[in-house]
Amino acid sequence: MIGVLAIQGDYEAHKSRLEQLGAEVTLVRKPEQLDAIDAIVIPGGESSTFLNFLEEHGFLEKLKTFVSTKPVFGTCAGAILLAKNVENPPQRSLGVLDIRIRRNAYGRQLDSSIREAKTKLGEMPLELVFIRAPKIVSTGKGVEVLATESGDPVLVRQGRIMAATFHPELSHDTRVHQEFLKMVKNGHQTR
Ligand code: GLN
Repeated sequence: MIGVLAIQGDYEAHKSRLEQLGAEVTLVRKPEQLDAIDAIVIPGGESSTFLNFLEEHGFLEKLKTFVSTKPVFGTCAGAILLAKNVENPPQRSLGVLDIRIRRNAYGRQLDSSIREAKTKLGEMPLELVFIRAPKIVSTGKGVEVLATESGDPVLVRQGRIMAATFHPELSHDTRVHQEFLKMVKNGHQTR
């Protein structure tokens, strides 16, 4: 069973995509639900709003423990929550993914845009839907870059943790979620 954190943001789109790929999915709104799932998706939204909610509801520590041991996929705000270091402004996080990430890094004019990335997930470029996207400004040694745009990593993986600065759930291409399901099946990284 895969959980999608459903506090805010486009969790429904992740749920439909995963179901389309044959997974069983539940929306997670309470910390005790973490006991019943095998993996989690942290969707886009506003990372500071997520943090406030998680802190207020005694959810943050339990989620931290979960993402320290189980497969997790974070998109956009979810990637910000997973990152070890957050800037613009600095902010607390779950701190499990060895990257430095800069919030709202594409400036106001480029708030939202659609681009393409070269990817290790296959020949075809990946469509990137950016919505007030963060930028991964550095990656640690154990971090594999799965896709880049203009030289910047946009999809990365460290063991059972994957993060995207874009919104694959809003494109037709299913490769990114497929990759996550493979990771869940194998319990860790796939090559
Ligand atoms: N701008 C948001 C943040 O900094 C992320 C945007 C998104 O998730 N689409 O948290």
